[in-house]
Amino acid sequence: MAGIAWIWFLARGRMRGATKRALFRLSLLALFAALIGIGADRGLWTHTSLGFRFMLFGALLLVEFGYLYLIRFCPSCGRMMRNLRPPTCPRCGAWLPIHGMTARVRRPGDDRSWDPMEKRARPPRQSDGPRA
Ligand SMILES: [Zn+2]
Repeated sequence: MAGIAWIWFLARGRMRGATKRALFRLSLLALFAALIGIGADRGLWTHTSLGFRFMLFGALLLVEFGYLYLIRFCPSCGRMMRNLRPPTCPRCGAWLPIHGMTARVRRPGDDRSWDPMEKRARPPRQSDGPRA
């Protein structure tokens, strides 16, 4: 039951995207460790051939990175997206990161070169000139 609540929170809970992404990575890591632990219990890492262990470990790693890459969180409201297609958050309309391994956000004209004037939102620097 706690696991379901946790997954629901990750998917829907309102929290900063960066925080949730960190939590999500932690839970994936915990799951990964748990799976390896279960495997150890059943002797998968000791009573099998080296090739089999290698393949199993590789498959687990692949799944882990697949999730890390595929699952994105809205940077402003923290909504989880399991699909790489939508460029914006369905709940609050904020731009989403390009994929799960980056915080870089997709912009309206992504193929055209960047307009540096548009990208003033993130680093709050003092030397950026007068503030309106
Ligand atoms: Zn959102």
